[in-house]
Amino acid sequence: MEHKDSSPQTMDTLVSLCKRRGFIFQSSEIYGGINGFWDYGPLGCELKRNIRDSWWRAMVRRREDVVGLDATIIMHPAIWKASGHADGFADPMVDCKACRHRFRADQLCEEHGLALLRTAGGFALPPEVKCTHCGSKDLTEPRAFNLMFKTYVGPVEEEGAAAYLRPETAQAIFAQFRNVLETSRQSVPFGVAQMGKSFRNEINPRNFTFRSREFEQMELEFFIRPDEAVELIRGRVASLADKPDLSQPQDDWGWEVWHKYWVEQRMAWYRAIGLPAASLVEYWQPKAELAHYARACVDIQYAFPFGVQELEGIAARGDFDLTQHHKHSGKPMEVFDEQLKLAAAGMDAAARAAFTQRVTDTWSRDGRDPEAARAFAALLLEGKYIPHVIEPSAGVDRLALALLCNAYAEEQVAGDKGKTETRTVLRFYPSVAPVMVAVFPLVKNKPELYKHARGIFDALQRRWCCFWDESGAIGRRYRRQDEIGTPFCVTVDFQTLEDGTMTLRDRDSMQQERLTLEALKERLDGLTA
Ligand code: ATP
Repeated sequence: MEHKDSSPQTMDTLVSLCKRRGFIFQSSEIYGGINGFWDYGPLGCELKRNIRDSWWRAMVRRREDVVGLDATIIMHPAIWKASGHADGFADPMVDCKACRHRFRADQLCEEHGLALLRTAGGFALPPEVKCTHCGSKDLTEPRAFNLMFKTYVGPVEEEGAAAYLRPETAQAIFAQFRNVLETSRQSVPFGVAQMGKSFRNEINPRNFTFRSREFEQMELEFFIRPDEAVELIRGRVASLADKPDLSQPQDDWGWEVWHKYWVEQRMAWYRAIGLPAASLVEYWQPKAELAHYARACVDIQYAFPFGVQELEGIAARGDFDLTQHHKHSGKPMEVFDEQLKLAAAGMDAAARAAFTQRVTDTWSRDGRDPEAARAFAALLLEGKYIPHVIEPSAGVDRLALALLCNAYAEEQVAGDKGKTETRTVLRFYPSVAPVMVAVFPLVKNKPELYKHARGIFDALQRRWCCFWDESGAIGRRYRRQDEIGTPFCVTVDFQTLEDGTMTLRDRDSMQQERLTLEALKERLDGLTA
């Protein structure tokens, strides 16, 4: 058997497989579709469900320091004012006056190998840039376009009733921070995770589901002590220069170590669900690219057929978000930290003064307000602070697309009559495969065998997503499962009736072996836990 793997030549191959086998359809297709919206068919929604379940298990259930939240999509519009989205969540847009094509200005510049220019009032295009659709140089000036979808709450469409579909799930976590803290028996450091739909009125949706207008995010806000609090409690702050062991969180970690810890956790998770290390890139944003409040941001990127692109961003956001909500809502977002209070209580007046001076000097060196530094130090000495946050923020749809791209292969295999044929196979890891096991009765016209096979199917279906297929030659049934990425096929035959064993066929090696239902369950358990 000759194996010749190939990634899809173009996205077209994958897009057509996704449609043909029921992974992804164009939304509203019977009416001509709607740009930037996609529906997941029977297999696509199982794939997405497995992604979400795997994320939730890794990020919430298997940790003692993270709890979940499921907030509404429409929230009080003041949230978006406080977060900065109402005023700043905009992309620069340009139109071609000749052909009326619309572009995101930064992407249009990128296609020319150039960068969008920043001006005092906004943005400008470099003079060389032209329309990539018709070649005209007659383009409008870039203008800011807010990406939030607007709607109205209640029967009257007036400004006072305006609200937005959330452009990210994260803000609800900040808005509910106090409630979660008070009810969950967690204390800093701890995290709140949420997944769900987000909406962005993207100027130029493209690359299949990669940039959609409605998509799903999986986000964690992991709240940590400010470094100054760590210093007071532990007398030192571990940084990356100390080469800390990142396998287990420690209470002397500063933000830099926590950030790196989450980058490693997230990279390990992507590898664990089947993306090879070689296809992933850790892109550390240079200082100039960072948002003004961010201390560091790493993009985890995947090598898609259309380029290396972001799957997830992991940002160290300082105390920006909670401070904004603290100011805008008037509700205190400070936490009381018992250990900090104890540490501060053990300091004499001179040590307190020295600490306050140190904080003020550091802040002044960074060009920050010394008055605010003194207030911050005073609060710390009372055992209080506004937590800082590390935010790993991932997209379900982008990951589903990466898993599909990664899984796709075409192989030359020996067919029925010794002829070489092409086998299309999706090599999903079992933990994300839409169907875990397919069950085939060898023949369908033998009632005893058929009934026995149904019994096995029912037993497996209690725990895994299974597929029943009774039609066609066994070889054809295997091929159909290969194409949707089912890792295992089970054939129930006459021997099963005698000794309880059935044939298990492995998708990747195409090897077969006989085993009992109990042995099969044990095998599958180990692959999905
Ligand atoms: P981009 O620069 O690609 O627009 P972003 O940096 O604005 O993305 P974030 O705001 O960091 O994205 O969102 C976190 C994650 O949400 C992204 O890494 C991505 O996986 C997902 N995401 C964001 N926008 C979209 C979109 N339009 N379609 C699908 N997924 C998206």
